[in-house]
Amino acid sequence: MLQQPVLSPKHAYGEQFDVKGLNFFRRLLQALQNNEFVVYFQPKVSITDMKIAGAEALVRWVYDGQVLPPVKFIPFCERTGLVIDIDFYVLEETCKKMREWMDAGMQLVRISVNFSKYHFNEEGVAERIYNVINSYGIPPEYIEVEFTETAYLDKEELLEATVEKLKNYGIKSSIDDFGSGYSSLNLLQNMDFEVVKLDKSLLGKGVENDKAKKVISSIIHMAKELNMEVLAEGVETVEELKLLKSLRCDIVQGFFFDKPLPVTEFEKRLRSGGYKEDGSVKEPERKRMQLKDVEEIGADGNKDSGSLNRYLNYEQLYDRKRNNGMFIAGLVMLLLAIAVLTVAFVIVRNGKVKGHEEEITTVTEKTFSQSEVDELVASKVAFAEEETRASVDREYRAQIREVASVYSGMTNYLRTLYPDDLVFTEGSRYNFVPINKELKMSDVLEELFVKDDTTGYLYYTDASGNKTSYMGIDVSSHQGKVDWNKVKTAGIDFAVIRCGIRGYGSGKIVEDTEFKNNLLGAANADIPTAVYFYTQAVNTDEAVEEAQFVLSLLAPFSVKGPVVLDVESASSDERIKDLTSGERTDIIIAFCDTIKQAGYTPMIYADSRFYTLRMELERLEEYDKWYANYNNITRDPAASAWSYNSPLVFPYKYRMWQYSNTGRVDGVSGNVDFNVLFDKWW
Ligand code: C2E
Ligand code: MG
Ligand code: MG
Repeated sequence: MLQQPVLSPKHAYGEQFDVKGLNFFRRLLQALQNNEFVVYFQPKVSITDMKIAGAEALVRWVYDGQVLPPVKFIPFCERTGLVIDIDFYVLEETCKKMREWMDAGMQLVRISVNFSKYHFNEEGVAERIYNVINSYGIPPEYIEVEFTETAYLDKEELLEATVEKLKNYGIKSSIDDFGSGYSSLNLLQNMDFEVVKLDKSLLGKGVENDKAKKVISSIIHMAKELNMEVLAEGVETVEELKLLKSLRCDIVQGFFFDKPLPVTEFEKRLRSGGYKEDGSVKEPERKRMQLKDVEEIGADGNKDSGSLNRYLNYEQLYDRKRNNGMFIAGLVMLLLAIAVLTVAFVIVRNGKVKGHEEEITTVTEKTFSQSEVDELVASKVAFAEEETRASVDREYRAQIREVASVYSGMTNYLRTLYPDDLVFTEGSRYNFVPINKELKMSDVLEELFVKDDTTGYLYYTDASGNKTSYMGIDVSSHQGKVDWNKVKTAGIDFAVIRCGIRGYGSGKIVEDTEFKNNLLGAANADIPTAVYFYTQAVNTDEAVEEAQFVLSLLAPFSVKGPVVLDVESASSDERIKDLTSGERTDIIIAFCDTIKQAGYTPMIYADSRFYTLRMELERLEEYDKWYANYNNITRDPAASAWSYNSPLVFPYKYRMWQYSNTGRVDGVSGNVDFNVLFDKWW
């Protein structure tokens, strides 16, 4: 039986399921994991020159070989909150495609994605949208976010704030289905939409009666007065097109031109020259390709290697494959050229011998006219490109899935449904780990956190609102030189200082270059300190070696705070990837016990995934824990304001919470980690 959510009500979407609903929900989850959702693109056409001005990304569910339209599943997804993950999935798939187009040297057009109003249950939507776009390096002006007109009557303030933030990021917003329901002219007037999309229901009537025509005309007029771009949806006939043209509508979208198209079809449209007056597709404006062009593309493809960034790897692979494709195309061209020359040579020679000029011309033209050669080459190039794309898609599907599955929206929702399990994503899977009620449990309540608006610091309070926690930062050489007096003045209560690491590549133990400076600096500024060491030990001997190294570093100082073992994954996990939970637990115990025997308080640092999947927590009860989770905490770079909406998803007892890695404190240049400490050691 389903239980009530354990998290505070604002994190629950409030839908109760019957069995049928739950099965459907599970099926949808599976669909998201298995990449069964695909994005179709419907071209938008500029009314003045009939060229493709952009497209709308529309989701489809490929279910048992059938392509299901959104009406079959989006309403359910909206009620359950799944729509958040779907919308971000669509955005990400769109950005991924756009990146491919950019890399292939195609001219981008602006693509719009639909965002449901259910995103407004949580803050930070605009930031998240921006982060996705940014991570693919898509210029923000090429993305448009569509919000449906009627959907926001009860959430106008949030919508307004989101539209404004998007605008600050350079991302366009449009108001979708305008004129379909309770059209609120206020929406147009009060918000910074760049585009208004006239609903298709306005059109049908418009060509028939004058009154409807006037309505359309005045909406267009008003939108133009407000400097908005006007797009008409659902254009199906030439009469509608003519009417819209006469009313000075900017852009049209509808079946008259194209239905939403699978991506490969849409790519063909992009390569075409737009549409003719009757709505049919113009011939592609084919560019003649010369061997030199092919070589140039090949040379460009040689991107700098060595980055660990997954996306760059994708780019490199794509480029490499494209080079291969281009190489084949080049080879084909060369062979064709040789063939043409040989045939021409033979014919000319025969002609000379026989003296039949007429025959020569006919034979030459029939065999290889220039346009035929062009055609052949173009088709070979297209084929090679298609092949490249398909094989890149195959190889990267797994990675793409992984990216798509780390969205928090669904995970949070699942948590409300399965209160007895810890739910999170690991790779492309959703993990349901039963909560072990035998362990010491956390009694932290999300509602008792308060944010200091001036500093942005987060504190825990008692029921009457008095602060009961301490605010700290953790630093390493990444922060460079720290001005600890300024840090003290900025109200920081304590600091955790990295003393060293074991390199995940070399396996060597190294002291943090800023360790001593930081420790002395903090002590002189009267800031209590703790230290941490980043482990890559693969057995207990190495763990003891690490602990002894830390102890030797600490010997000249008097550090009172915990000595933390930082157990987390690195960008390359080569060294520790084969450790079992049991082995890792042995390693942690070996380190902690060595530290403890020397009179210090040991502590472990990890996130909930690592704590739960990679350790045997029941054997680590006696050690203090420092818990990291800042996935849902965002800082708005535009407003430099903070927003907190992170449910604390780790159910077990912890002493300290690292809640952000993008904190800002006077005295530290750049970002720094922020921590809430529940009970102090000084
Ligand atoms: P929408 O955003 O207003 O999208 C336009 C819809 O009109 C699309 O239906 C499109 O296929 C349809 N359409 C386009 N031209 C014509 C035409 O000439 N005549 C007619 N009769 N229809 C036309 P689709 O793809 O079935 O999507 C329906 C709705 O589902 C969308 O309406 C949008 O509200 C929602 N939707 C689609 N994809 C997503 C998504 O990724 N996220 C969210 N939240 N909603 C989505
Ligand atoms: Mg739309
Ligand atoms: Mg619409």
